[in-house]
Amino acid sequence: MRRPILAANWKMHKTCAEAQAFAESFLPLVAHANAVDVVIAPPFTTLSALADALRASQVHLAAQNVNPEEKGAFTGEIAPGMLEALGCSYTIVGHSERRALYGEQDDFIAAKAAALLARNIRPIVCVGETLDEREASRTFDVVGGQLTGSLASIPADRAEEVVVAYEPVWAIGTGKTATPEMAQEVHAFIREHLGKQLGAAAEAIRIQYGGSVKPDNVDALMAQTDIDGALVGGASLEPETFARIVNFE
Ligand code: PEP
Repeated sequence: MRRPILAANWKMHKTCAEAQAFAESFLPLVAHANAVDVVIAPPFTTLSALADALRASQVHLAAQNVNPEEKGAFTGEIAPGMLEALGCSYTIVGHSERRALYGEQDDFIAAKAAALLARNIRPIVCVGETLDEREASRTFDVVGGQLTGSLASIPADRAEEVVVAYEPVWAIGTGKTATPEMAQEVHAFIREHLGKQLGAAAEAIRIQYGGSVKPDNVDALMAQTDIDGALVGGASLEPETFARIVNFE
């Protein structure tokens, strides 16, 4: 019922030439992946070159961040309309690195998500607990609070366009993955929370898992009822490994 969505978050990696070389190797490897949505989020500087390289393919372009304002004196920032003009169909907001390193709060993330939808760009809204929070049995409180805050400005009739990424902070870039059962438990909680917050759309909203997803754990994760995709950092940088994730079994 929910179309799987496999997304690459390249973070601060790859020049234009490197992105073009990636696309050349990657596209033939996913040429038959017609039943899933494939998304790549390169750095801003690489969006235009990657857009050209992906033009003849089904792979979607995404940004890793956005400013909610349309224009103005915001040095170093990028507006939703600029991403729309480049052909972005998705954009990541609220990644834990932005929350932790740049102090982004739920209300700012909520404004970004709403501004993206106004430009017909689907937000990928990231939530997830730290290790301390998990060990203090606060996972549901933290994730529930992030959802309430970060999705506060989503109009009910646009809710199905939102993608939620559950990324336990302790699993990002560490090689430690939540077991499929641990991830499913939180995904089920997220779907229930979305039902209370956004109504019937919750059944259609795709919830990705992120945190050290690799070729050898993707199949078991994707077999879980409420895991509808993956947001992939490190393992998305090599065409073969990300293609294996896209072609999960
Ligand atoms: C991420 O940063 O979104 C991520 C999940 O990274 P990694 O796959 O490297 O853990």
